[in-house]
Amino acid sequence: MHRIEHIYINGEFVVPHGQEWFDLHNPSTEEVIGQVRLGDALDARRAIAAAKAAFPAWSRTTREERVAALQRMHRAVVAREEELLQAVLVEYGAPSSRGRWMATYPAEVIAQAIDALQAFDFEEQAGMARVILTPVGVSGLITPWNSNAGFICNKLATALATGCTAVIKPSEMSALQTQVVLQALHEADLPPGVFNLVNGRGDVVGEEIARHPDVAKISFTGSSAVGQHLVRTAAATLKRVTLELGGKSPTVVLDDADFHAVMPMVLQAGFLNSGQACIAGTRILVPRTRLGEFERVAKAHVSQIQSGDPHDAATDIGPMVSQKQWERVQRYIRIGQEEGARLLAGGEGRPAGLDGGWFVKPTLFTDAHNGMRIAREEIFGPVLTIIPYEDDADAISIANDTDYGLSALVLGKSPERCVKIARQIEAGRVLINTLAHEPRAPFGGFKQSGLGREMGKWGMSAYLEPKTLVVSDPLK
Ligand code: NAD
Repeated sequence: MHRIEHIYINGEFVVPHGQEWFDLHNPSTEEVIGQVRLGDALDARRAIAAAKAAFPAWSRTTREERVAALQRMHRAVVAREEELLQAVLVEYGAPSSRGRWMATYPAEVIAQAIDALQAFDFEEQAGMARVILTPVGVSGLITPWNSNAGFICNKLATALATGCTAVIKPSEMSALQTQVVLQALHEADLPPGVFNLVNGRGDVVGEEIARHPDVAKISFTGSSAVGQHLVRTAAATLKRVTLELGGKSPTVVLDDADFHAVMPMVLQAGFLNSGQACIAGTRILVPRTRLGEFERVAKAHVSQIQSGDPHDAATDIGPMVSQKQWERVQRYIRIGQEEGARLLAGGEGRPAGLDGGWFVKPTLFTDAHNGMRIAREEIFGPVLTIIPYEDDADAISIANDTDYGLSALVLGKSPERCVKIARQIEAGRVLINTLAHEPRAPFGGFKQSGLGREMGKWGMSAYLEPKTLVVSDPLK
């Protein structure tokens, strides 16, 4: 049993004032595998005070000093990759191939922050003015349970790169990952108070961070509902807010695509992280003239997909993170059928051979239209919806007919035609015939998928306030 009792304030592991203990589960077995002690509003205020006290000195550090600090962070996180992998597998059952990515990604995003910092222009001339980009102050960094370690490292490395200090509120459901990362960050030997971390509930610790007048900026990754709430709370003190929210991303399969060749990518995009990914390609847009053929190929491929033990290298899909999430996904599978969509694969209940664990059958709906709830709402599980379209213009129109706009995938034989279509899709990122991720490019969403961007110079700018200096020379 894991027992995580400490939070991190002013360079020290401390016992929180909060008394509540939260159960951690292994979603593959439903067993309780540990407990984490949650901080409360007082703990959040202590962490904010420490970050505020550390800000003046940290904001005056040189670029070289900050690069050196981030390099220490990078080394410390790399050294804990194996430990992080084990935490990811046991804590939310990411299949091992995905788990490996999640264990290496935190170091990768620190590396991108180092590159961005080395190249960043903190000053520039605008006419007769000198424009100086200055750090906004204490930043509140709030992360979701999926890829918690990566989000902590990315947000923190970027905040520190700009000269901001930080209070991190990780997901209370990812305490094992948080603990591994925290240990690494401690070993990186940053000045006390520069970063602080409080495990706790969103509506307690997260709320205090969003409300507190000494926090200048919030960077949040999570659901759209909480993101909207944060904007309202942060408005009282006019905090700068960056939001990375949900998605209902389209995969546009063009009429010249070789279905056998593209199907692994279509399904990987949709079932990414067991379907629990903000960027998952959950709406599969298929030319109506070739719908029957697409359905046959898709059905054959889905029948080969394996659900089960995340440690097994052959596993494609692991469990849902919690019972609540399992029930939510089951509800959507019922809704899809009630709405009149046809089940091509999967359905309610657990996959054959799995009696325990929060496993969901990889599920494909077809005969669906874009007005259905299964096409409009983020399900966050391995449930995909095939939607037929008439021509390219119709495909683009369906792709854009959504409240979201985080990611999209276009699959077709001609790169030029794919790019032409990609340019018309309203999404922060469009992938063409690939699922490759570029951590140096801006990441974020259009519409209700978010506000602002993370990564690279775009991510850094969100932690900086431009200050204009206009100097008149009295001697002239
Ligand atoms: P969530 O919104 O429930 O929680 C995210 C974080 O917000 C947690 O740390 C939670 O404790 C905190 N929180 C909850 N209520 C709060 C409040 N009132 N004030 C402040 N903080 C509060 O999301 P989740 O279930 O952890 O993660 C899944 C969601 O995250 C999905 O919608 C997914 O699409 C989204 N997501 C988006 C991205 C992206 O980059 N766009 C990446 C991963 C996940």
